[in-house]
Amino acid sequence: MKNSPSEQMVRDWAAVVAQYAPSTRARVRALAQQHQHALASRFYDSLLSDAAASQLVSHEQVQVRLHASMMRWITDVFADPEDIAPQALVERQIRIGEVHARIDVPVHLVLRGARSLKQGFYALLGAEDESRNDGAAVQLVTQTIDLAMEIMSQTYAHSHERSARADEAYRLLSMVQNASMERERQRAALLDWESAVMYEIAVGEAARLPRMAASEFGLWFRHKGVHAFQGTSEAEAILAAIAHVDEVVQPALEAAQDVEERQRQARELRDHARRMALDLDTLFQKANELEGGRDVLTSLLNRKFLPVVLSKEVAYARERNSQFAVIAIDIDHFKQVNDVHGHEAGDMVLQQFAALLSDSVRGGDYLFRLGGEEFLMLSVDVDEARAVAAAERLRARIAAEVFRLPRDRTMTLTISIGLAMHDGHPDYQRALRRADVALYAAKQRGRNCLVVADQVADKVTAG
Ligand code: GH3
Ligand code: MG
Ligand code: MG
Repeated sequence: MKNSPSEQMVRDWAAVVAQYAPSTRARVRALAQQHQHALASRFYDSLLSDAAASQLVSHEQVQVRLHASMMRWITDVFADPEDIAPQALVERQIRIGEVHARIDVPVHLVLRGARSLKQGFYALLGAEDESRNDGAAVQLVTQTIDLAMEIMSQTYAHSHERSARADEAYRLLSMVQNASMERERQRAALLDWESAVMYEIAVGEAARLPRMAASEFGLWFRHKGVHAFQGTSEAEAILAAIAHVDEVVQPALEAAQDVEERQRQARELRDHARRMALDLDTLFQKANELEGGRDVLTSLLNRKFLPVVLSKEVAYARERNSQFAVIAIDIDHFKQVNDVHGHEAGDMVLQQFAALLSDSVRGGDYLFRLGGEEFLMLSVDVDEARAVAAAERLRARIAAEVFRLPRDRTMTLTISIGLAMHDGHPDYQRALRRADVALYAAKQRGRNCLVVADQVADKVTAG
């Protein structure tokens, strides 16, 4: 999921650094250090002048953090390569672009902030001793800030495309809820098209055969199927087959002069249709398993939809001024369950565990299986006291439960929990990280316990 620096970006950054004399760089750096507070304020004043953006950063804590990281940014971008390597600086710009994308800061506002920042630098440089103003410092400032913006916006665009795609896949998959019905319909549609072609050939009307792309199946697949099944090799194969059948096989059939050639092409067409039917089966099987984004073993939501759901809840909390809790749950010593009782028993326990979780949450809450024996509960519209009480009840309930194993055996389990209240920060990754740190602390404390994020020494730094 992560963006990584391209060689081009790192090369460009190193080139900007190499272009200026160490004395020029030192001068700009000193100025940045000396005025970082005022410069960072300039940047945020221009952001806050926009109504939508000022809502995004309205949270006081957010402003304090953003201001602090902005001050760091202003000095770090002018660092010497020996202190911070270009690669590291490029990576930092990428991370910032990702955060902007997640919290939906419009690019033009960031650019506006950058412009105001440059003006601030120009004014400071102009105010210095005139004999030093050979223009090099101005150019260094301009090139560095512009390049940083270029990297950020490129990352931003990529991240946005991706989250928009995930959003859409989510919507479509839930639309195709009734996958087995859709599958029967499309199978039949594919067969209908094949019979229609074969009929035309049989009655000697092969001059202009019905194209697959325009058939019921072709239309459905090209418009909806590819979206629902995007990124799979089967979907690619079906698309390629539709094109091949329409552009190669059918023209050959239409042009065939003798029976033998016609039969050969007809067989090829049939083979393609068969293979497409098989690919379609595989796709629907996968979709069935996903059940609209659900984990196969436990039927909980899978990790893929975490960004969609969390972004929605962050926006909801901001609009209604409400809170939610991110509760990270990890089964203690689960490896031993597999080691002692076997993997199948482990699966059985995971299913019962997930069922218990589902039974323990309210209707508006979300449950994710993040992978393995790690789960995440999103408890909506709660304050800390209620979230902690609910998580504590869950912990006690799991510890008291007797889990069934194959061959009438049973066992007990405990869980460790890390709980973080959404603190108003627009970047949902922050709450996830805080919950994770708290979970780790719960494991350190000996497991079978709950740690609330703010009780942990706040190791999390601003994103
Ligand atoms: P800790 O208390 O530190 O969390 O210990 P742990 O053993 O639970 O944690 P660890 O992460 O070391 O091991 C998790 C184990 O969960 C590894 C793997 O054997 C098991 N596991 C992961 N996914 C599945 C699954 O789908 N089915 C089964 N049966 N086991 C799984
Ligand atoms: Mg575990
Ligand atoms: Mg684990």
